[in-house]
Amino acid sequence: MSDSAPLAGRSLAQVLAQSPLDPLETRILLGHALGLSRVQLITRADRLLDAGEAARLQQLFARRLAGEPVAYLTGEREFYGLDFKVTPAVLIPRPDTELLVELVCARLPRGGSVLDLGTGSGAIAVAIAHARPDAQVSALDASAAALDVARFNAARHDVRVDFLQSDWYAGLASQRYSMIVANPPYIVAGDSHLSQGDLRFEPVDALTDHADGLSALRAIVAGAPGFLAEGGWLLMEHGYDQAAPVRALLQGWSQVESWRDLAGIERVTGATRRV
Ligand code: GLN
Repeated sequence: MSDSAPLAGRSLAQVLAQSPLDPLETRILLGHALGLSRVQLITRADRLLDAGEAARLQQLFARRLAGEPVAYLTGEREFYGLDFKVTPAVLIPRPDTELLVELVCARLPRGGSVLDLGTGSGAIAVAIAHARPDAQVSALDASAAALDVARFNAARHDVRVDFLQSDWYAGLASQRYSMIVANPPYIVAGDSHLSQGDLRFEPVDALTDHADGLSALRAIVAGAPGFLAEGGWLLMEHGYDQAAPVRALLQGWSQVESWRDLAGIERVTGATRRV
């Protein structure tokens, strides 16, 4: 199927067989354009596309071929078993980040409080609040547009999260949390990945600190003792080669540890603090 070939009058099965995109992405975009579930795409494989559907799908295929992430085309991404709204104002949640949610849920005391720094879509905060209804979850972001998305996601999943617009800890009232978590921008300025694939379309300030990749992590560690409860955990996601430098930032903390993601890469580092 060439980019300009008309899709009208073709069956779903034909579109799937002839798509220029990979089969999974084709199914996601087809389901989105036609309002059909994954099961319906199979059970109605003989259904023909009308002109409007064909035009919508053609447009989505063209945008995807030009590099736009599938999640921005559909406005949706699943994370920790929940569907999240995403827009180009927020980073697309990654499966690797589910590790952070698991670590929080395993360590959070009953009725404990969690602060999520740089919440973006709210994926981490909402997933924690959903998995742990006993928790008090707060989340902040410097971006008002991101907070709009995060608030939508909290409402969508019917969880209470207290949101705040703030540059890291700057806008917080004096308060202490049982845990502080963050998936901050940690890609080094000028890293070639920033100009490749999906990352080209994501908010650059959510990806890179425009410096050595550690400046956001450094600020988060430096401020944490002022906002952590006695013995509370700080848990941070970081890049594939940053576990050792992040552990070094945690000098003077207790129980310093790094955990591997599904790909076997040290992806989260944390520690506890006497205050
Ligand atoms: N894990 C993301 C990536 O490498 C980066 C996310 C981040 O900077 N927090 O694509």
